[in-house]
Amino acid sequence: MNALGRKDPPIEIVGAGPAGLVAAITLAHHGYRVVVYEARSDVGARFHGDFQGIENWSTQEGVIDFLARMGIKINFPCHPYREAEFYDPDLRKVTVRCGAPLFYLVRRGSDPGTLDQGLKAQALEAGVEIVFNRRVEKLPDGGIIAIGPKVADAIAKGVLFETDLPDMAAAIADDRLAPKGYAYLLAHQGRATLATVLFRRFREERLYFNRTLEAFQKLYSLGMKSPREFGGYGNFSIRPTERRGEKRYVGEAAGFQDALFGFGMRYAMTSGYLAARSIIERMDYDALWK
Ligand SMILES: Cc1cc2nc3c(=O)[nH]c(=O)nc-3n(C[C@H](O)[C@H](O)[C@H](O)COP(=O)(O)OP(=O)(O)OC[C@H]3O[C@@H](n4cnc5c(N)ncnc54)[C@H](O)[C@@H]3O)c2cc1C
Repeated sequence: MNALGRKDPPIEIVGAGPAGLVAAITLAHHGYRVVVYEARSDVGARFHGDFQGIENWSTQEGVIDFLARMGIKINFPCHPYREAEFYDPDLRKVTVRCGAPLFYLVRRGSDPGTLDQGLKAQALEAGVEIVFNRRVEKLPDGGIIAIGPKVADAIAKGVLFETDLPDMAAAIADDRLAPKGYAYLLAHQGRATLATVLFRRFREERLYFNRTLEAFQKLYSLGMKSPREFGGYGNFSIRPTERRGEKRYVGEAAGFQDALFGFGMRYAMTSGYLAARSIIERMDYDALWK
């Protein structure tokens, strides 16, 4: 124990994304001293203010209850979406409506009101030390590796804009827009995110992005103002073990992703929580995530 009554030595975590921060919050809630090293100058800097959805379909328990059970508060804007419009390659529409939300819309990035800033605030409140501008190359033994995707198994190319669209979610499954992936449009309170997610043909991302834009322009009056393009990538390959000696890999650093749609945030937060629990309860991390 140190002077603050915290367990020493500290648990070191590399990467202040959702996986690393949830691991840090969980450990700090259990009396551990935690230091998180983040390569960039703030949380969320890999993102651009884009909308993402925390999926609510993979378990009976709703994701908000699940987050509460992990000790994570909803201190960031988080909006339930109960309806989405899906299009096939001929642009035939199916509208899916659910009693329970399909997903919860959040913003990602470094701005106030993002998931990333919400988790950072909870970590700091719990006593976690976050060291920014520190890229860790030699990863600590006994620590948690939460550095996000290592390789691009899928890429996203999109645009953020202001719009008069009502709050809505739509997706198109068409290889001509998104080879082996899908194109999506999310709008909320005058802002929108439109993107193509490609699992193949990365070099032609501009072509697929242009086609995606054209397709959505045919379907909706986007009324695009102040457009800002963005890009990103994801890692989907899990290994048989996510431990290397005493290091635990979490989130996309471990390849934990939703292989169908890339809704990786829930996997990231869950694996961060499980890695923390494996330390707190001295349990086998591989057994927990499997
Ligand atoms: C365009 C796009 C749209 C997406 N849409 C959705 C969606 O709608 N729903 C959904 O659930 N998921 C979505 N995802 C996926 C989701 O964003 C990720 O799965 C999630 O952020 C992974 O969290 P993480 O903590 O594992 O990694 P990250 O969020 O990538 O965080 C890793 C952190 O580690 C830091 N870091 C990296 N290397 C080092 C180092 N050597 N030393 C110190 N720090 C380091 C990085 O700077 C970063 O801050 C999307 C992803 C993209 C790119």
